[in-house]
Amino acid sequence: MAKPKAADELQDFYDYLMKQETIDRSINLLADYCAIKSVSGDETLRPECFTMVHRVYSDLHSLLGIPLVNMRIHNNPEDKKLPPILTAHMGNDPSKTTLLVYGHLDVQPAPDPENWVHQDDPFKLTKVPATGGTFETIKYYARGSTDDKGPVLGWINAIKAYQDLNMEVPVNIKFLFECMEESGGIGLEQLIEEQSAFFEGVDAVCISDNYWLGLTKPCVTYGLRGISYYNVTIECAAGDLHSGVYGGTVREAMIDLINIFSQLTDGKGGIKIDGVNDDVLVMTDDELALYGPIDFDPEEYRKEIGTKELLYPDKVGTLTHRWRYPSLSIHGFVGASDGNEDQTVIPRQVKGKFSIRLVPNQDPADIDAKVEAYVKKLHTQSGSKNPLTFVATTSAPAWVSDNTDANYKAGINAQKRVYGIEPDLTREGGSIPVTLTLQNATNSSVMLLPIGQSDDGAHSQNEKMSERNYINGAKVLGTYLNELGKAQKTLKSKKTGKK
Ligand SMILES: [Zn+2]
Repeated sequence: MAKPKAADELQDFYDYLMKQETIDRSINLLADYCAIKSVSGDETLRPECFTMVHRVYSDLHSLLGIPLVNMRIHNNPEDKKLPPILTAHMGNDPSKTTLLVYGHLDVQPAPDPENWVHQDDPFKLTKVPATGGTFETIKYYARGSTDDKGPVLGWINAIKAYQDLNMEVPVNIKFLFECMEESGGIGLEQLIEEQSAFFEGVDAVCISDNYWLGLTKPCVTYGLRGISYYNVTIECAAGDLHSGVYGGTVREAMIDLINIFSQLTDGKGGIKIDGVNDDVLVMTDDELALYGPIDFDPEEYRKEIGTKELLYPDKVGTLTHRWRYPSLSIHGFVGASDGNEDQTVIPRQVKGKFSIRLVPNQDPADIDAKVEAYVKKLHTQSGSKNPLTFVATTSAPAWVSDNTDANYKAGINAQKRVYGIEPDLTREGGSIPVTLTLQNATNSSVMLLPIGQSDDGAHSQNEKMSERNYINGAKVLGTYLNELGKAQKTLKSKKTGKK
């Protein structure tokens, strides 16, 4: 029997992933996965979600040789009619680092197929250009190709290549794959609580479910904003009124509501709610220095949006206000007339919706209390006796990680070895609640290691994955395993020190 090769000789690994045969196999797998319409938000497609989870279960066994006793398909703890959750573990060597890999197998719906490259079926992986093209130019279009089936397969392709080359996988790997992520991750938190033993002994967590900041430079992501969402309802009459009959005699709910909403921000990006900015961390020199090398052109960003001006026209201003400062957005009014004609109704009740993107050190419960007090204060000050209801609907705190620890060093080195450039250290303006959940469940470092590009169109039409990013993605994830293996002493001692 051949002796396993040392895992840091990765040239063979890279060459193997670039062989046409390997590329074809990887693409075929992507086509298979995308063809399963695992839209978690569509009840009629629930059976496809079950099929998807079972497909990955069987691939982990047949492609990667994970013994069936090491895998489990868990009923969704919220409701067993919902898609199940898959856990699996590979390797159990106590001297090795244990990595937890998370991914999701469900996708967004794909309405309006006529707007897709493949006009009949957005779930059919479609190569562009159909013939010719190069590694740098070929793109594959299908729902799920980049969010998140491509990255899930990135792990499988990388580990399969290790095994085909008889290279030792230098870490133990635990897999957690859900199929409800696009529908609020229902059941996942409960499962993580119930299966706490599975999450014991995890030294590092890696999630590949976000994107580069642009098209050419890879990144490693260390922070996400949280969110708090609010509904404010004001009522002024028992029924809708006609302005020709009642206008001028009644204190209108819509006018009361707009009075409040007009005082939430200063219109220039600032939030006027008392105390909301108190806990926002002051920018340190070290943090500011991270923004210097980031490859980002605010002017291009402005054009992409199609807006006249940005609130903060320079790079650092735009990025910091997307990532590390809170923002308030007004999302809509329910009960207001939305017709085009000149309607003359006075709505009896209107509900306004807004949210605040939260940043590290802001406590959602504290923010909720401050927002409620401010909204009610404005209403009282206005002198209106119309009843107001305030509801904080959902909230998730922000997440930020130490981007200098051994897990991050491994991710940064992996991107650097594959792409030959230092990756950007980025944050995102949105939320991925599982990040914080996994950090708490494992008491370890969580890192986001994206493989797709900013223009992949994750939730929109013509979602795609480029051939280069898909194949290089497997290289990055495989290199990350190699780097983690080398860092195992640091990671394991950090973990025991923490406990
Ligand atoms: Zn995703």
